[in-house]
Amino acid sequence: MGKKLECKIEGIPCKFKVEAEDMSDDEFFRIAQEHMKRAHNRELSDEEIRRVCKLKENRFTIIELPEVPPRR
Ligand SMILES: [Zn+2]
Repeated sequence: MGKKLECKIEGIPCKFKVEAEDMSDDEFFRIAQEHMKRAHNRELSDEEIRRVCKLKENRFTIIELPEVPPRR
């Protein structure tokens, strides 16, 4: 069955969407990571991306933008 990745972060107009017939969960997480970096300027670790990506019925939804750690 095909899988779908959508970005639905609250308060941010983002229409990012990917559909694939044959892709592993890991590949989807990688795409999500890449998207967060390019579109939202956030570099997320593997652990973080799993936290913000919810998987339900073959559909990944990015639902939150984690806080930016303070940089000095
Ligand atoms: Zn997005």
